[in-house]
Amino acid sequence: MRPKGIIIAIDGPTASGKSTTAKLVANALGYLHLNTGAMYRAVALLADKEGVTEADGRLSDLLKQAEITFEATGAVCLNGRNISADIDSLEIALRASELSTIGFVREHLVERQRKIARDGGVVLEGRDIGTVVFPDAELKIFLVADPAARAVRRQHEMEEHGRHIAIEEMKAQLAERDKRDRERKLSPLKKADDAIEIDTTSLSIEEQVQKVIDLARSVSK
Ligand code: C5P
Repeated sequence: MRPKGIIIAIDGPTASGKSTTAKLVANALGYLHLNTGAMYRAVALLADKEGVTEADGRLSDLLKQAEITFEATGAVCLNGRNISADIDSLEIALRASELSTIGFVREHLVERQRKIARDGGVVLEGRDIGTVVFPDAELKIFLVADPAARAVRRQHEMEEHGRHIAIEEMKAQLAERDKRDRERKLSPLKKADDAIEIDTTSLSIEEQVQKVIDLARSVSK
């Protein structure tokens, strides 16, 4: 059984360090790591595989039938199949960002996120965790980083997966996604009033993880 604990919400723009931080903080505290972005990406994969566009209304039925689950390792599964490698592309990321503006997509996923995390002992990362999914989370973190640093980070990640993307293209893609995420009507990306902002531009991974762990320990006391 997972130890009981607090709910830690980590929000922020693309490539601000959310996933790495959330994963390592969860490991250190023995918490569950819930990558909500992976759920939106799973919906994008599902829509593309089935040739569904938002306009044709089949997406809602497909979503109701689809099972999006997580393995103990944090890997995301769609109908029982590990899809981590399939959702790790810029195309799926952009599609996820488009589909995440649709109300029923958000409602469906937010309900699942609340169900998985309601007992605490969870680190959730996304765009709307501290503002919408768990506005009462005991600890809210908002990660930010310089756009150039974020583009370089994401470029390195893609290179590890064998894909080279020019830095200018990467910057443009991040900017497009950030703009849509910040400007959408439903649950836009924004810092919750009571979130603690951490700028990761010149922090090492160890430093940013330690900051969050220290904050988690201080609020759990
Ligand atoms: O975090 P990640 O880059 O994997 O998220 C993909 C897209 O999913 C984001 O650009 C955003 O549009 C959407 N998303 C969201 N709300 C979340 C997590 C992700 O709208 N909580």
